[in-house]
Amino acid sequence: MTQPTPAMRKAMASAEVGDDVYGEDPSVNRLQERAAEIFGREAALFLPSGTMANQIAIKIYTKPGQEVVCEERAHVYTSELGMMAVFSGCMAHPVWSEDGILTWNAIEPQIRSTSGKYGGTSLVSIENTANFAGGTVYTVSATSDICIKARQRGIPVHLDGARIFNAACVLGVNVSDLTQETDSLMFSLSKGLGAPAGSILLGTAEFIAEARHLKKMLGGGMRQVGILAAAGLIALNEAPKGLELDHENARLIAEGLAELSSVHLVSKVVTNIVVVEVSDTRLDSKEVVSRLATAGVLANPINARAFRLVTHRDVSRADCEQAVKIIRHVLSSQLDAAT
Ligand SMILES: *Cc1c(COP(=O)(O)O)cnc(C)c1O
Repeated sequence: MTQPTPAMRKAMASAEVGDDVYGEDPSVNRLQERAAEIFGREAALFLPSGTMANQIAIKIYTKPGQEVVCEERAHVYTSELGMMAVFSGCMAHPVWSEDGILTWNAIEPQIRSTSGKYGGTSLVSIENTANFAGGTVYTVSATSDICIKARQRGIPVHLDGARIFNAACVLGVNVSDLTQETDSLMFSLSKGLGAPAGSILLGTAEFIAEARHLKKMLGGGMRQVGILAAAGLIALNEAPKGLELDHENARLIAEGLAELSSVHLVSKVVTNIVVVEVSDTRLDSKEVVSRLATAGVLANPINARAFRLVTHRDVSRADCEQAVKIIRHVLSSQLDAAT
């Protein structure tokens, strides 16, 4: 939902470009080098979307018939249109966790070795922050513990870090420390960092070479795409330091909704996402979201009972205070209507 900043627009207008399919776009190369440097990885690849980044990673680690362990609300499972089945021919093995954060104790019993009956588990995919669980966070030790124990079983771990900078911000750690044990990771330049488009996939040089091949196969080869990378570089360098404000604003919304008896929050709000369950209003979340939109607050229904609010650089504290008033009003008039 973010709009490119004036600095991004300016950088886009004057970006040096070349043919990125030949690896000759200097702006893309600069962005990839900077991302690899920040995360302490051998190589990085600029991709049109986070979905493409996740699905390329899954393809590299799996063979058809194998399983990917992930949380039940994981984006790779719920929101990528079944692509792990379509593209990689593998199945998600979803595991429920109350706060969206998996532990090795929850994962281990679900791991299947290859046998006459099972294709076998070939990948664990974790998501930090856990979007649909309310922007909850894996700590450094929670991440490392899963990675180290998975490695002992010969299973790689991919991190869907669409919002990894939000997680690092609230934990007060570097993204490189937070992600160092994972085999590969993806983060979004769009979303909270505010670039108009694009995601970055990171891993070993060998992994990224394979990823580059799959990107082209999927039709993701983009020619003079330094125009987008130039905005992405500004997002990567500048935006992380502003995320704390988004988190404060999300907490403000959470506190403003806490006393409403008709709703509850699915988790404690620690980053920029508030997931609200409307189970007591007798209206489904689509209806609530449409009434909120009419009243001037944009939200997303994430299932029949819950909707999601996300704060970002283009909404101010005053906007969030106003949103709380509107949400309270809409939800209390719904209660009246229902009784
Ligand atoms: C948005 C998102 C993605 C996918 O990114 P797109 O660029 O929209 O394809 C993946 N994972 C999570 C957690 C996301 O929120």
